[in-house]
Amino acid sequence: MRVFFIGFGQAGGKIVDMFIEQDKRMQTQNFRGIAVNTARTDLMGLKNIELKDRLLIGQTVVKGHGVGTDNVTGARVTADEIDAIINAIDSRGTHDIDAFVIIAGLGGGTGSGGSPVLARHLKRIYREPVYAIGILPAPEEGRLYSYNAARSLSTLVNEADNTFIFDNSAWKNEGESVKDAYNRLNDEIVRRFGVLFRAGEVGKAGVGEMVVDSSEVINTLRGGGISSVGYAISEKISPRTKQSQGLLSGLVRKKEKTEEVLTGEDKSAKIIALVRRAMLGRLTLPCDYSTAERGLVLLAGPPDEMDRKGVEKSKSWVEENIAGVEVRGGDYPVQSDYIAAVVVLATIGNAPRITELLEIAKSTKEDVLKSKEKRSTMFDDGIEPLFE
Ligand code: GDP
Repeated sequence: MRVFFIGFGQAGGKIVDMFIEQDKRMQTQNFRGIAVNTARTDLMGLKNIELKDRLLIGQTVVKGHGVGTDNVTGARVTADEIDAIINAIDSRGTHDIDAFVIIAGLGGGTGSGGSPVLARHLKRIYREPVYAIGILPAPEEGRLYSYNAARSLSTLVNEADNTFIFDNSAWKNEGESVKDAYNRLNDEIVRRFGVLFRAGEVGKAGVGEMVVDSSEVINTLRGGGISSVGYAISEKISPRTKQSQGLLSGLVRKKEKTEEVLTGEDKSAKIIALVRRAMLGRLTLPCDYSTAERGLVLLAGPPDEMDRKGVEKSKSWVEENIAGVEVRGGDYPVQSDYIAAVVVLATIGNAPRITELLEIAKSTKEDVLKSKEKRSTMFDDGIEPLFE
């Protein structure tokens, strides 16, 4: 599919920059993107998004220094300057895109506050679906980040057509700080979502066994709410295997034919194992996959490694394991030495991490109110002020 990315805030901008880099490296034209921020230095640090596609907002309020962790100001300046943002998107071209994807760290200020505002306006103006990739802060970043993320996410799920969650805390290693993990985490995001958002694009490697087009991705995400993405990659496909398969398909003698059937079964088993690994491995948001309403199974790899039966069987396996019965899927060929499997678990009913985040937010709010009350009663002891 063709995606228009909007990177909001520091995290969002960096990640969109990486998607654009991937598109350049792969010599495809699936992705387009702009970055929006209240902090000038964050925008200057980007490498692949063109300068004219980096938009600084809120200059009259924060003078290019960013809104810090104040997401209410982030939301306000976005609403005030929504026309400039829409103009920047329009001037980049939207007529041939299949979806908008807003990316932001939900714990900060600019992306956290701005994303839901932008999602609302994009939905009002365009017919294409508006998705978000929301990054959750790690608890070690402090309660304010969790509070911001909970407020932002609660708003965002009602504005975007579907919100993918990436949980920083589930992905950073034990003893590693979140900041040290950013590059690795961002690679993971771009790899996974890169496979997903390229679905349906016919590349140089030809057409798939079971073609998926962008409407299948869109239908999977139609239920709204939050979604999580699983991913697995095969071992390197050795050139020898590839060669012998090429040879096999060229020979029609009986003996080789039996061998060919076996190879087919092997291919199928390999695909099923890969899809299982994708769904049962680490998800972008750890969650109870049995509560997902819809699923999407995608395979990307060399055409001679793809197998229709394998895709069908893996779809059935996903269907048996999730709450709903709608599982779509297919494959698309890419020139690569690996096969990648992506499983989208769409519209999830239960994710303990989200429940925990909302609880932290509630108790933070109560504590803030209590301390405000204390402050306001501290000087209520009968001493008259100098003047009213
Ligand atoms: P903003 O610029 O005000 O929107 O805020 P930031 O994007 O700097 O930070 C918001 C959240 O995103 C925090 O929880 C950060 O830990 C997280 N974050 C910042 N940069 C990155 C990044 O490069 N990758 C990831 N995965 N998370 C990030």
